[in-house]
Amino acid sequence: MALIKKLKCVLCGKEFDPESGAFTCTDCGPDGTLDVLYDYEEIKGKFTQEALSQRKEKSISRYIDLLPISDLSFFPNLKVGCSPLYESSFWAKKTWSKTSLNKRRWQKPHGFF
Ligand SMILES: [Zn+2]
Repeated sequence: MALIKKLKCVLCGKEFDPESGAFTCTDCGPDGTLDVLYDYEEIKGKFTQEALSQRKEKSISRYIDLLPISDLSFFPNLKVGCSPLYESSFWAKKTWSKTSLNKRRWQKPHGFF
């Protein structure tokens, strides 16, 4: 979590240490979700496209440096993220585009990413 400076409540602005494990504000309750405030200077130097391309993980865990968790055991046992893209000439013709890339989210049962 070296790339995360702190977590900040969207309602009251109270700040939390990223290592606290908090996802909501202790004062505001469940409505006080915490924004992740990044250290963009650190990100520029460490989280480069080259560094990311060298990671072997094909799931959201490849972005662990940007997530407010440090323990991958919190991840569900499903592969989340990095669902594949396929080129579709059918949709390219339908949308008068040169190319159309379709993301097959149904291939990974998580619904997002
Ligand atoms: Zn709050």
